[in-house]
Amino acid sequence: REPVLSARGLRVVLRGARGGTARAVDGVDLDLARGEIVALVGESGCGKTTLARTLLGLERPAAGAVVFEGRPLDRSARGLRAYRRRVQLVQQDPTGSLNPRRTVHESVAEGLRIHEGTTADEVGRVCRALSLAGLRPPERFLSRYPHELSGGQRQRVVIAGALVLEPEVLVADEPVASLDASVRGEILRLLLDLRADLGLSALVATHDLGLAWNIADRVAVMYLGRVVETGRTEDVLSDPSHPYTRALLSALPGRGGRPAPLPGEPPDPRRVPPGCRFHPRCPALASGRAAAVAERCRAEDPAVLAASGPLHRAACHLGPEEGRAGRALRTGGA
Ligand code: SF4
Repeated sequence: REPVLSARGLRVVLRGARGGTARAVDGVDLDLARGEIVALVGESGCGKTTLARTLLGLERPAAGAVVFEGRPLDRSARGLRAYRRRVQLVQQDPTGSLNPRRTVHESVAEGLRIHEGTTADEVGRVCRALSLAGLRPPERFLSRYPHELSGGQRQRVVIAGALVLEPEVLVADEPVASLDASVRGEILRLLLDLRADLGLSALVATHDLGLAWNIADRVAVMYLGRVVETGRTEDVLSDPSHPYTRALLSALPGRGGRPAPLPGEPPDPRRVPPGCRFHPRCPALASGRAAAVAERCRAEDPAVLAASGPLHRAACHLGPEEGRAGRALRTGGA
């Protein structure tokens, strides 16, 4: 399928308050096809939020390009303005992103007013967006304030605010992280309905592999600014190839309901290790399973290799065959 939005060799360097720099996104290639939902997964600090912000045009890449409908993003003020109505952000925390002093009508109309001024059909367009976001009948919500809504309804208002300009792409950063478990499913179903009804594409940044499993067609696993594994959701999450993806899956809550800790220190983009950036934490290296490639792991950045499925790729010196051995090891309880 034709990509609607792509990252091509994208690098983003962030400057810290004390003058240091962090390679937050470090050479990412990623495609989002029309009508596709891609989940960007990884621990906090892996670069998924910075990648999402860069794809929205909110961060300027140090190298590489954001490509929308086959053309590099025009970063002039006019180009960015036109782009931002077609690629919309769904904010993470509805409580923080909605102004408590604004009615639902005012919050949802904000994007319209920025891009088009006050228009005669504003109420109709706001009502349509609210209805698409599942707030029905929409007229009942127009004059309400955020404190009069439930958490799920607030998130629907945020989504309506993104839909009002009729975008092609939604970029959602942890869209259900602040919601109760009971409402999460409803919001995820809403994203699936929007894709089915409007043909929307969505890039969803999340640390939640369960969310990725439930809504994404494809998954991209990020570690220290790189996509280390990508492929169809079932290939990546049922048949993972990269030791990092396997470690993330092994860390999911077991019968005791508690997640197992991932090995080693969490990633710090200010200190990217040489060679394979996962090598200081890699269970395959620690267990001796990667002994044959250990020297390369410490010195050489792994290339992206084909793994189990047709779209499945992973960046690991072990390659797909050894990856299978790793899965057998994990199933055996290692
Ligand atoms: Fe582990 Fe080496 Fe693969 Fe990196 S390249 S994930 S260190 S086995």
